[in-house]
Amino acid sequence: MFNVAIDGPAGAGKSTIAKAAAKELGFIYVDTGALYRAIALNAARNNALDSTEKVIALLDSTDVKLGFSEDGTQCVYLNGEDVSSLIRTPEISMGASKVSAIPEVRAFLLELQRSIARENNVIMDGRDIASVVLPDAQCKIFLFASPECRAERRYKELVEKGEDVKYEDVLADVNQRDWQDSHREIAPLKPTEESVMADTSKLTLDESIQYIINIIKEAL
Ligand code: C5P
Repeated sequence: MFNVAIDGPAGAGKSTIAKAAAKELGFIYVDTGALYRAIALNAARNNALDSTEKVIALLDSTDVKLGFSEDGTQCVYLNGEDVSSLIRTPEISMGASKVSAIPEVRAFLLELQRSIARENNVIMDGRDIASVVLPDAQCKIFLFASPECRAERRYKELVEKGEDVKYEDVLADVNQRDWQDSHREIAPLKPTEESVMADTSKLTLDESIQYIINIIKEAL
C-alpha cells in the first residue's frame, strides 16, 4: 500500500487539499481529526470535557468507526450514530484539541488509523501521522500557512455556514489550538526530518492542490 501522511496546523487547508488530491490519485482520504472530534463530542455529551479522568473512563463504553462512501466521503460513527456534521462546531474543535492531549485517547485511536492505512492507499491527515501513526509512510508532507491566513479562511467557512462569529475570535482560537497542539507532551504537532515543508499562505486553493499532488507524484 502507498501511504501519504499530511500533518499541519488547523486551517492550513489540509482536508480540502488532501481530499482533492486523493480523488485525483484514486486514494482514500482519511481525516483523523474527526476521530478526536468524536471523542470530544462524546465527552461533551457526558459533561466530561473538563475532566481527563472522566474522558478516559468513557473510552471503555465508546465505539468510534470511520466509513467511506463510494465517492470517497468519510463518515464518522460514534456508538453507531453518524456524527459527521455534529462534530464541526467551534466548541468541539476546542474540545478535540483538549482530549487529543490525553495519551489514553491517542492510544485508543491508534490502531484504527493504522488498520485503514494497512488495507488501503491513503492520504491521511492529522498532526502526528508522519511521526507516530504511519512512520513508514512513503510520502510525508507538513502543510502550513500563517495563523492570519488560516484564521481568515476558517472565518469565511463559518460565515458561509451561517455562524455568527468574529474574525478576532477565530484568530484567537487558531492561536490557542496551535499552542495546545504544538506544546502538548504527547505527539506534539511538528514536522519530521523527512517531511516536505509546504507553505500554502501565498497559494490559491487550486495551486495548493496541484502543489501537493506534484509532491505525491514525485514520491510514487
Ligand atoms: O484536524 P482537526 O481540526 O479536525 O482536528 C481537531 C483536533 O484534533 C486538533 O486541534 C488536534 O488537537 C487533534 N488532532 C490530533 N491528532 C490528529 C488529528 C487531530 O491531535 N492526528
